[in-house]
Amino acid sequence: MNNIRENIRIITENISDACCKCGRENDVELMAVTKTVPPERVNAVFESGVRILGENRVQEFMSKKDSYALDEYKTLSPQVHFIGHLQTNKVKYIINDVDMIQSVDSLKLAQEINRLAAVHNKVMDVLCEVNIGGEDSKSGVLPTQLGELLGQLESLENIRVKGLMTIPPPVDSDIYFGRMSELFNNMKNKYGAEMDILSMGMTHDYVTAVKYGSTIVRVGTGIFGSRDYSRT
Ligand SMILES: *Cc1c(COP(=O)(O)O)cnc(C)c1O
Repeated sequence: MNNIRENIRIITENISDACCKCGRENDVELMAVTKTVPPERVNAVFESGVRILGENRVQEFMSKKDSYALDEYKTLSPQVHFIGHLQTNKVKYIINDVDMIQSVDSLKLAQEINRLAAVHNKVMDVLCEVNIGGEDSKSGVLPTQLGELLGQLESLENIRVKGLMTIPPPVDSDIYFGRMSELFNNMKNKYGAEMDILSMGMTHDYVTAVKYGSTIVRVGTGIFGSRDYSRT
């Protein structure tokens, strides 16, 4: 587990250096992305001060969540954010166990989250996922359709739109993070009383993302090492 601690230390330092270099206040949170990582290794991140877990897959999360030491660190309030593609018929499995859903990309999905949040007497924080590169392989709403979706979400009382999330194309990250940053500021002005989260940047590009205003970087490999896909 020593390597996890050391990895987190280095990433935290890189984030803080990146903030310094562009003269922004360091309000960046580091999320540990847990896909394929066994719970014992996931638990090691809480000791190193990481306060957000990122979950991609409903089934995997369901099978691991009871082994997470979330209660033990309750005073430090670790959060769980859902970041993977979410099917409408699976919202019911996670509605009570996550603090935020970062992957809202349709009205239909938002309506189901809203409906179930109301049933459970809560308001769910969500981010809209934007397909900033317009790639066929990725989910997310297209930049040109984002305004319409955000407008529709305003009437849903049991969800609170806290900002935007993206996974940009693997190349030209400066261009896409720059576009995201611009889009975020525009949308914030129009719809965004409560929009203060821009979730972007992964292991290979989080430093660049910080330069463009990311407030949550989502790091998997950089913390836990390369993923063992034979487990999934
Ligand atoms: C896997 C994943 C990450 C982390 O990717 P790494 O390259 O391992 O840091 C971040 N965000 C999402 C949505 C992911 O699926």
